Amino acid sequence: MSTTEVTSAARLLNYIGGSWVESQAEDELPVVNPATAELLSHVPLTPSSEVAGAVAAASQAFPAWRETPAGERVQYLFKLKTLLENHLDELARGITMESGKTLAESAGELRRAIDNIEVASGIPSLMQGYNSDGIAPGIDEMMIRRPLGVVAAITPFNFPAMIPCWFLPYAIACGNTFVLKPSEKVPRTAAKIFELIAETGLPAGVANLIHGSKEAVDALLDHPEVRAVSFVGSSAVARYVYGRATSKGKRAQCQGGAKNPVIILPDADPRMTTETIAESAFGCAGQRCLAATLAIAVGEAGDEFTRRLAEAAASRKVGYGIEAGVQMGPVITRESKQRVEGLIAQGIREGAKVIVDGRKAQIRGHEQGNFVRPTLLAEMPPAGSIAQTEIFGPVLGLIRAKDLEEAIRLVNRLNYGNMACLFTSSGAAARQFRREAQAGNIGINVGVASPMAYFPFCGMKDSFFGDLHGQGRDAVEFYTEKKVVVERWPKA
Ligand code: NAD
Repeated sequence: MSTTEVTSAARLLNYIGGSWVESQAEDELPVVNPATAELLSHVPLTPSSEVAGAVAAASQAFPAWRETPAGERVQYLFKLKTLLENHLDELARGITMESGKTLAESAGELRRAIDNIEVASGIPSLMQGYNSDGIAPGIDEMMIRRPLGVVAAITPFNFPAMIPCWFLPYAIACGNTFVLKPSEKVPRTAAKIFELIAETGLPAGVANLIHGSKEAVDALLDHPEVRAVSFVGSSAVARYVYGRATSKGKRAQCQGGAKNPVIILPDADPRMTTETIAESAFGCAGQRCLAATLAIAVGEAGDEFTRRLAEAAASRKVGYGIEAGVQMGPVITRESKQRVEGLIAQGIREGAKVIVDGRKAQIRGHEQGNFVRPTLLAEMPPAGSIAQTEIFGPVLGLIRAKDLEEAIRLVNRLNYGNMACLFTSSGAAARQFRREAQAGNIGINVGVASPMAYFPFCGMKDSFFGDLHGQGRDAVEFYTEKKVVVERWPKA
């Protein structure tokens, strides 16, 4: 089936056992362009009986795939990397159409997706075990890694290409077979990636795609043949998925929401700090799990950065991300827009001062879009509920602190721990911060401290439920189980 047939179908298809399959689901949801309100597709809410079919296909493919040498398994990833690069523009356009981010942001996300495929292509060496020759006379001992079996990933709307690639390449390179349940809000990108996977000639059943929402997720969590679950989304659902999956004896790694603070010291470089924080807070319309949402300005940094960040917020060009020059697109749905605007109002009720107000945005030619302009709330009370709530929109709150110690205390009282950043020209302050700040991804003069694919993505506190993180060596640990073999081979 060609690209256009799959993605322009009124209703998206599942990819099960190497074939595109129509779901018999009675329920479906519209997939809508958040900038234009154009209807793009319908997504079926696949029932549990069909999810079981996808798991069965993955189960059936597992024995042969596990026995395929790692060096042969990664050949499919090399092909996928090339195909993704060859289709980058088309994919980026598709991401922008369904998620609302700008074309540059979509291309950047694809680059990060490809990075993960490149790292997973190193599995023949990453998956090696180790051995001790001669632990006793005539006896050797070794550790070997084996794949788990069928593994599943459930992904959110905000990175439709990158986040599935935090899991899929590592899972299959390690010899597992895989089922992806992408976000029902942005399912077309996953469909396009699976078309390219099909083009690689990957054996049927090794990678499967099912569309849907809660019923499909629960079916994966309860299925006895699913050995491990990777989840990325909001903390409430992450906690739920982690509890349900682990109660059924599965491995689980569940990444949740965030409220990311950035501390600005008076010795921070003014221009770089302003540009970097504005990009972090307002890029992707604030819908990154590593978006800066609280700026804690220390001492005299307070007045200067309120002014500078206000200018950056007010001057950002908002519009349809497909158009040249646009720096920020809409939020994902009408409900998100209402939610974000409601939280801005709540912040004001709690005592914050609105310096730049992004509510009631009207974008000429896109009046139906879910636009919220960049918003800056100053003097946000640290004890208020808004200072603890994930807004997931282009809203930056400013808090003042008297010194670095107080600022770090404010960072550490947050329930989330996805990212924390410091802007300074002091090495000593940077060292203190990286050691004391309770967040898994730390930035020093960096606004989106997103780990490269060969490092783990280290959320903590309410931002992560599990032990082993996504990406890099953690992914290899997560997708394999270790065996220790003690061998004696007496001479005849
Ligand atoms: P979400 O939690 O609404 O949905 C994520 C996935 O869970 C989707 O596939 C959805 O179908 C499924 N789901 C939703 N409700 C469910 C339920 N009750 N039971 C079972 N499954 C359910 O998240 P979202 O709105 O798509 O994504 C935004 C969230 O993801 C934000 O909170 C953001 O911080 C977080 N996020 C975190 C990271 C990270 O690395 N920590 C990365 C990206 C996004």
